[in-house]
Amino acid sequence: MKETVWISLIALLQLFAPLTAAGAIRVMILDGQSGGPYHDWERVTPVLRNQLEATGLFQVDVVTAPQSGGDFSTFKPEFKKYQVVVSNYDAPEWPAELKASFEQYVKDGGGFVAVHAANNAFPDWPAFNEMIGIGGWRNRTEKAGPFWYYKEGKLVSDNTPGNAGSHGARIPFPVTNRDSEHPIAKGLPKVWMHAGDELYASLRGPGKNMTVLATAHSATDNRGTGYDEPVLMVLSYGKGRVFHTTLGHDIPALSCVGFITTLQRGTEWAATGRVTQKIPGSFPTAETVSFRVDIAAMDPGFKGSPRR
Ligand code: ZN
Repeated sequence: MKETVWISLIALLQLFAPLTAAGAIRVMILDGQSGGPYHDWERVTPVLRNQLEATGLFQVDVVTAPQSGGDFSTFKPEFKKYQVVVSNYDAPEWPAELKASFEQYVKDGGGFVAVHAANNAFPDWPAFNEMIGIGGWRNRTEKAGPFWYYKEGKLVSDNTPGNAGSHGARIPFPVTNRDSEHPIAKGLPKVWMHAGDELYASLRGPGKNMTVLATAHSATDNRGTGYDEPVLMVLSYGKGRVFHTTLGHDIPALSCVGFITTLQRGTEWAATGRVTQKIPGSFPTAETVSFRVDIAAMDPGFKGSPRR
């Protein structure tokens, strides 16, 4: 009798093995739209997927939402099937029922990762803005909350009125760790050079339950604020863990080993509360950018070396 049960169990496991690798963390990449022509979300999603799958830790599904104003009546993502939702998605609004289902998912302990322009989405959805802490564009003003940045080594909020969201030209910039004990950041160099990317600045929001893991200096000679702007953050919303990276505008930026490593670690942490991954030997240093040529080659404009 016992043997029969074992055989059935093994048969069942074998049946499902190709569908779900044993112990794999289930990830939903959410996409479907981006504000204006600025972000090529259809090209970015396969890159994010490739980066997550390369760890061997994650099993990734892509869920694509209808365009704004499209038919959302049948769009009911099964958030609860996943340990973490990674957003490569920027839309202005969702139906109330869909918002409630996502809020409940994170409240109950679902993980959430916001990548770059995902923090432009949903300016009028309070719970979403609590999850991301800070966001930009889409007519966010002082009503969205204060500006948040580092000044003299400390996180400060600033109630000066004004629009949220700005960035300069896409050039490499140093990223400075602010919390070397957090599992995502532990073991990373204090300062590392990020490949050419948009350095988001002037972000506003509630900043509740938010820990800034890393900042980057928004230089005034590149249309910046002169402040050290948050680029990597962790937050909590109910029982849910949130990792927010403002990095990753396009494929050359996504090819940075610093971006890839922090995305992989941040996604594992949002899903499980732990990080089991080693930091690669190719991680950028304080002076030198480091990028993955195989990822950069996923850019249609790739000509042998990524734009710096
Ligand atoms: Zn961008």
